[in-house]
Amino acid sequence: MDFLPGDEQRMAVESVRRFLDDKLEPEIRAHGPGFIPRDLMRRWTGELTRFGHIAAPHDEEWGGLDMGWLTHLMIFEEIVYSSLDVAIPGFINAVGAELIRRSASPELQRRYLPGLIAGELFVSMGISEPDVGSDVAAVKTRAVRDGDHWVINGEKTWITNGAYSDVLVCTCRTGENEISHILIDRAESPYEVRDIEKMALNGQSTAQIFLTDCRVPVGNMLGQPGDGLRNTLKVFEIARCHMAMWSIGIARRALDEAIAYAKERTQHGRKIAGHQLIAEKLATMATQIDAARLLTHRAISLVDAGVRAETECAMAKWYATEMAIGVTRDALQIHGGNGVTREFIVERLVREAIICPIPDGTTEIQKLIISRALTGVGAFR
Ligand SMILES: Cc1cc2nc3c(=O)[nH]c(=O)nc-3n(C[C@H](O)[C@H](O)[C@H](O)COP(=O)(O)OP(=O)(O)OC[C@H]3O[C@@H](n4cnc5c(N)ncnc54)[C@H](O)[C@@H]3O)c2cc1C
Repeated sequence: MDFLPGDEQRMAVESVRRFLDDKLEPEIRAHGPGFIPRDLMRRWTGELTRFGHIAAPHDEEWGGLDMGWLTHLMIFEEIVYSSLDVAIPGFINAVGAELIRRSASPELQRRYLPGLIAGELFVSMGISEPDVGSDVAAVKTRAVRDGDHWVINGEKTWITNGAYSDVLVCTCRTGENEISHILIDRAESPYEVRDIEKMALNGQSTAQIFLTDCRVPVGNMLGQPGDGLRNTLKVFEIARCHMAMWSIGIARRALDEAIAYAKERTQHGRKIAGHQLIAEKLATMATQIDAARLLTHRAISLVDAGVRAETECAMAKWYATEMAIGVTRDALQIHGGNGVTREFIVERLVREAIICPIPDGTTEIQKLIISRALTGVGAFR
């Protein structure tokens, strides 16, 4: 494994960092913590695609840069470092576009891939339902064939990009033992969306989606009937590496904030950075962030090489997401009382970090995947 970034990767990271520092992060801070309206999110996401956000892993044929998923994650880390809210819609677009590229008809690819990769359209991936979380095979949303259309009824919840979405890749039951993906174009087949208020990430959209007799052309199925679960598991590898990198971006920001504060704040006659218990925290935080990044780079490098990497992606996801909770918590502790105020961003980072271990398979589910690979004994049905 190569530990040095290539010239192309280094330049990509440096350019997006410069753009974020000089232009985008100040604009995002000026906007404040409230919901980012769709047009503004589209503008910011579109500007970031020029630096490889969404575009890096995708083929030039669709407007991508053909630079691979590892480079995409390196760029993604920088965006998360500045604003997780602004990073998330492009993460879902990148993964949603990959699912469409792998399994949609050429007609659907032509219609949606260029817009999604340019950040002009937003996609949502709808698996979860009120009674369906970790057990994705239990999906209840039903699609029934009626002539040239599917008629879809059901309720999705926790759907990232929901309020922004132009298209929804809906995981639904098309037969008793058949789970399939159907692409729903919101303009042609409207669905109702209601945003969910959370402890953090309220700048972007996580929503409930209600599908009531939603009529969708039969040609909008991705792949064959019954392909839904298999195709979901394949893109889960990429999504889980993004969740790991989202955690690393938050944790790295928390570490930098803690270092700056520890070098500034004086107690007991010396900078607190010089107190040994604070120095130990900083050293541990930095090492854990690096360990998480190495796990994540290994996992996504395997994906780039076309190797199945379910176990490695699960290791990266659980370790990085749980790591971010500890690191942000220590960063807040280093800030003392100031850490719990809105004047310092560590309180936001703590709230964001605690969400990391839930989406795209909880920590418990990742550990079950790893242990199944070790023992051959599965815990799932
Ligand atoms: C911010 C956010 C964004 C999200 N975005 C999306 C999205 O875009 N699309 C989408 O479809 N979903 C999305 N989700 C949903 C997410 O994938 C689910 O929340 C997650 O899979 C867990 O499901 P659940 O919340 O129903 O918890 P449950 O599955 O009910 O689990 C509850 C608890 O039980 C544990 N548990 C469950 N089964 C087992 C088991 N077999 N062994 C041991 N422990 C177990 C879990 O680990 C957890 O601790 C999002 C969630 C959040 C918070």
